[in-house]
Amino acid sequence: MTQTTQLQTKSAATFRALKCKECGEEYELKAMHVCEFCFGPLEVAYDYSALRRTVTRESIQAGPHSIWRYRPFLPVATEQPIDVGTGLTPLVRANRLARRLGLNKLYIKNDAVNMPTLSFKDRVVSVALTRARELGFSTVSCASTGNLANSTAAIAAHAGLDCCVFIPADLEAGKVMGTLIYSPTVMAVQGNYDQVNRLCSEVANTHGWGFVNINLRPYYSEGSKTLGFEVAEQLGWQLPDHIVAPLASGSLFTKIYKGFQEFVEVGLVDDKPVRFSGAQAEGCSPIAQAYREGRDFVTPVKPNTIAKSIAIGNPADGVYAIDIARKTNGNIESVNDAEIIAGIKLLAETEGIFTETAGGTTIAVLQKLVEAGKIDPDETTVVYITGNGLKTQEAVQGYVGEPLTIEPKLDSFERALERSRTLERLEWQQVSV
Ligand SMILES: *Cc1c(COP(=O)(O)O)cnc(C)c1O
Repeated sequence: MTQTTQLQTKSAATFRALKCKECGEEYELKAMHVCEFCFGPLEVAYDYSALRRTVTRESIQAGPHSIWRYRPFLPVATEQPIDVGTGLTPLVRANRLARRLGLNKLYIKNDAVNMPTLSFKDRVVSVALTRARELGFSTVSCASTGNLANSTAAIAAHAGLDCCVFIPADLEAGKVMGTLIYSPTVMAVQGNYDQVNRLCSEVANTHGWGFVNINLRPYYSEGSKTLGFEVAEQLGWQLPDHIVAPLASGSLFTKIYKGFQEFVEVGLVDDKPVRFSGAQAEGCSPIAQAYREGRDFVTPVKPNTIAKSIAIGNPADGVYAIDIARKTNGNIESVNDAEIIAGIKLLAETEGIFTETAGGTTIAVLQKLVEAGKIDPDETTVVYITGNGLKTQEAVQGYVGEPLTIEPKLDSFERALERSRTLERLEWQQVSV
């Protein structure tokens, strides 16, 4: 038996097929994402009885300090996945933010400091590129709203894979630079993300490349389950009561759910109800609109918001996200751009975490849900912060004040300090009037 066959035989014990989420038809574990019978999306299916026999809390804890400690739950066969330290980001008890909002047990899952490119996308890309390599792809690609291009370019560089990424031409400077630096081919498409995505589907059909979020999407999306696994492990092998997460395509949201379910299924945590609440930016909120109107279908919209990383007008997993929010007694809410900026500042000032626009959206939705009485103060609530604010600096430009410029002299410093304290007092008086 060659080494590859051994690995494949071994892998059959955990991930065993691609399965249509709609009709249940099963397929071989190759690069495909749509059911040939009903056009439903394909998802990776596992052998849970094998997982139950082989995986324990101890075996996970003895694994690497990265998402790969959960490798039996991820769709790769190799014992040597691409491990650039992705995952196991901090779960922070957010007491000051909690007090400000009137909550008692609030946690931030901080993927603003994920490795290597400071967003949750490093999780999905680590899995997708490991699988791409197993399937024999030498060129990898993606349709991106910014963070995915950063991750794909960086991790492809590390793995020595050729890389060509597609982004909308109007992205933030930090996202563009954060891709170009790894020297992939970058196509800046004059159009919105949904147009980029359509173009990429055509390229995927003609070029034989591994598109992490198109033909490799079933493998890629499984990486988001680690956001569920880690929170369960970090809470001491327990599920939270309520989670709040951003929605772009809706994939991340549905996979946190799948992650919790799998841990219950194999006996790693006790079953309990977890409420799932989703966050969108008003300027691109097709899922929130459908939810609000009680619809079972999502009507595509044209994005117009500063939250570009989650601006997907035609979300592939929107209906599944709605289903989860409904059946878990959660919510899906949207907030406007001003509220998003206020959310970014609130998290920074209370917890010392600088998030990007997607995180500002999530914090602002958290606040809105608390104010509407839709989060109980005593629920253990986990908020997923998925990206870093240094990449979307233009969003807060003009909203954070200026440094006090002084001469290199003590009296210049004292005068400036006095002036700033007077200003602070005046602001306080205005607030209390
Ligand atoms: C891509 C992205 C999301 C959401 O992704 P989906 O899985 O498509 O819903 C959330 N936050 C950030 C920062 C992202 O880049």
